[in-house]
Amino acid sequence: MSARAVLRRVVVGVLGTNCWVLHAAGDRRALIVDPGDEPERILAATADLDVLAVLLTHAHFDHVLAVPQVARALDVPVLAHPADAPVWPHELAAARRAGHWNAGTATDGLLARVPGALAFPPSTPLWDGATEPVHDGDVLPVGPLPVRVLHTPGHTPGGLTLSADGHLLTGDTLFPGGPGLTGPPLSDFPVIVESVRRLLSFPGSARIHPGHGLGSTVRAQRPHLQGWVARGW
Ligand SMILES: [Zn+2]
Ligand SMILES: [Zn+2]
Repeated sequence: MSARAVLRRVVVGVLGTNCWVLHAAGDRRALIVDPGDEPERILAATADLDVLAVLLTHAHFDHVLAVPQVARALDVPVLAHPADAPVWPHELAAARRAGHWNAGTATDGLLARVPGALAFPPSTPLWDGATEPVHDGDVLPVGPLPVRVLHTPGHTPGGLTLSADGHLLTGDTLFPGGPGLTGPPLSDFPVIVESVRRLLSFPGSARIHPGHGLGSTVRAQRPHLQGWVARGW
């Protein structure tokens, strides 16, 4: 008998990143997933909880900008897959070169629509990139709720999905409508296809909660896999 999972969603930052808060029903112990921006809103949304750790599905800027403030305020570790270690230095180097964060295919539109939206350096302190490793198959006890770590690379080398009580927090690996972007450096389409295939092998009732936008189910997305492979993105 495993505990029932409760999810809170805090949508943060210019790319509307889903910062997920995960805990067991009736228990205060919680995990914060992807504190991508707006630390004060994330801290307010978790003020009634005992946060055990921050976990990163991956280290793109839009998933980590609030890490320093949130991790320091709560005095908790930052968990990530070690294969993502090159991602944050790459994000910083690209931003230093361009003078703004790179939001993938959305960058030009965003810069035109919201001048200053991707400003670098940001007005908030920069994360030092320090993490503690988690690996595929690890089970994180969030109070009575076992949270399983899945290494789902492809969008980034150390991409993670969390599985708990029929919920999948897929980061930017799987969205309703297909895999996450694999155009950016350090991404790989054939690799993300294998990660997506693995996620779509979960029971049809499993709920998909991506890193941006609304969710779906494995049942609704599974029939589209071959089409995504054929189109190549
Ligand atoms: Zn990403
Ligand atoms: Zn993202």
